[in-house]
Amino acid sequence: MDSRSSNSFDSLPRQLISRFAPSPTGGQHLGNARTYLINWLVARSCGGKILFRVEDLDTPRIKPEAIPQLESDLSWLGLDWDESPIIQTGRITLYEEALQRLQAKELVYPCVCTRTDILNAASAPHLEHEGPAYPGTCRNLRVSDADLIIGKPFAWRFRVTNSPTWHDRFLGPQNVDIRQIGGDFVVWRSNRVPAYQLAVVVDDADQGVNLVVRGDDLVPSTPRQLLLYDTLAMTAPEFMHLPLVKGPDGMRLAKRHGEARIAMFRQQGVTSEKIIGFLAWSCGWLKDLKPISAKELLSFFDLNTIPREPFVLLPWHLEWLKSGSRPEQE
Ligand code: GLU
Repeated sequence: MDSRSSNSFDSLPRQLISRFAPSPTGGQHLGNARTYLINWLVARSCGGKILFRVEDLDTPRIKPEAIPQLESDLSWLGLDWDESPIIQTGRITLYEEALQRLQAKELVYPCVCTRTDILNAASAPHLEHEGPAYPGTCRNLRVSDADLIIGKPFAWRFRVTNSPTWHDRFLGPQNVDIRQIGGDFVVWRSNRVPAYQLAVVVDDADQGVNLVVRGDDLVPSTPRQLLLYDTLAMTAPEFMHLPLVKGPDGMRLAKRHGEARIAMFRQQGVTSEKIIGFLAWSCGWLKDLKPISAKELLSFFDLNTIPREPFVLLPWHLEWLKSGSRPEQE
């Protein structure tokens, strides 16, 4: 059976609650906008809610000026949300409570290894940040051993014993073995900073999110999060992982691929309908490139036409967005 035939969203949760969860680490680009657009269309087409959460735990990488920009870019694109945004740095107590519950069950252990993944744990591990599996150096430590670690920073790692599978709403059945990629993962960084994996689970559960729509570079995070939902006795959402927008070199969108930030298009006078039209075309909903609003797409967008492979952003795409010109043959 084509796994796509089971991707219909007819059977999505009846009272769907989805969320935008951007990290204010820089400007949002066309790739982020494509995921947000699909997320918005799925939620709004079935009368669902969308919440907004600012994921700002990775303090050194956070750019405070990017927070209002996130909201203004999304509104400008015509993508609205319900309720006031929540900000992760204001919710540390909730994450601490979750950590204590994991500690009470000896599901986590203190880890003194000074590895980059401890440093990186505050941010979502987009694929290029997935390191080799943790070798388990501190695995035999007990929670109480933390009291004996003096003068050295330590993190808390989750002891992984299994790797849950799930049925992805876009990708179909998924089986990613986290014992092979990453292994025991960090849920708390040494300096009072919860790791992305723990914070995202606590927040999605607390906000009642029942559908997570995000880029497919976060697929390896899903079994980790499913483990946390399970051990914290929280209801897990469903997941829909979407293909990314990449540069012609196959890498995640970056500055070297040309200016693809929404804020820059706005400054250059490109209309939001043009951006939405371009994204709709990239998803196979429009045969020709033309401006359209997100609302207009509600009546005919279709998850089944979205190509499974990453969308490659070419220089002429940016040219079309800026000037309207497109080559005869591309
Ligand atoms: N804040 C994460 C990011 O911007 C997204 C995490 C998620 O959707 O689970 O990469």
